[in-house]
Amino acid sequence: MSEERAGSGAQSGDANGGYRGILFVISSPSGGGKGTLIRRLLNAVPGVSYSVSWTTRGPRAGETDGVNYHFVTTEEFARMRGRGGFLEWAVVHGHLYGTARSVVEQDLSEGHDIILEIDVQGAAAVRATMSSVVSVFILPPSFEVLRARLTARMTERPDELELRLRNARGEVEQYRHFDYIVLNDVVERAAAQLASIVWAERARRDRQEWVARRVLKTFAHAPDVE
Ligand code: 5GP
Repeated sequence: MSEERAGSGAQSGDANGGYRGILFVISSPSGGGKGTLIRRLLNAVPGVSYSVSWTTRGPRAGETDGVNYHFVTTEEFARMRGRGGFLEWAVVHGHLYGTARSVVEQDLSEGHDIILEIDVQGAAAVRATMSSVVSVFILPPSFEVLRARLTARMTERPDELELRLRNARGEVEQYRHFDYIVLNDVVERAAAQLASIVWAERARRDRQEWVARRVLKTFAHAPDVE
C-alpha cells in the first residue's frame, strides 16, 4: 500500500478488503463556479476521477468531445437510455444530460473515488438509487454574483442565459438535500474546503476499517502488558 493510497483508500483486489470508492455528487446553479472548483480538486487531491457526462447540448468554444462531455445526438442519447446505460439522466436547461453507469460502477469497484458534476435532479436520482453518496452543493454568494459570472463568461446565447438564471432559484432551494454546502465566495477557500471534504470522507472509520485491521494484525506479536 502506497502512502497516497492509505489516504485515498483506492486499492484493487483483496488488498483493500473490498473497499469501494466514494461517489461524490457536486451540484450548483449554472455559473456557481463548480467547474473551477472541481478542476482544482482534481489537481490537488490524488485518486479522484471525474465522470464525463453525455449531453445533447452542442459544444462551446474550447470544449472537447470526450473530455468535457460526450457530445451526442438525441438519437444516440435515447439508445443509451433505452439499454439502461445511464445511472441517471435529466433534462437541464432544455438539453439532455446523463451519467454513464458502467464508468461509475467500474471506478467505484476499483476503489477510485469519482466525482459526478450533475444538476440537482440528477443528484436526487443518484441519492435514491445508490447506497452511499456524498453530496456537495456549491452555493454562489448571491444572485447578483451568479448573474455577473454567467454574463461575463459569454458562453450562452441571451435566451439561454435568461433560462439558466430563471432556473437558478429552484436549484438553490435544493441545497437542503445535500450533505455539505460550500460557499463559493473566495475561490481559494472554497477549493480548500472541497478538498477537505474529500479527505475527511476518506478518513471515516467505516472506510478505513480495513486499514485499521491490517495495522492491528502487525501488533499480534507485540509484548503483552504485564
Ligand atoms: P452545462 O451546460 O453548463 O455544462 O451544464 C448544465 C447543467 O447540467 C449543470 O448543472 C451540470 O452540472 C448539469 N449536468 C452535467 N452533466 C450532467 C449529467 O450527467 N446529469 C445531470 N443530471 N446533470 C448534468
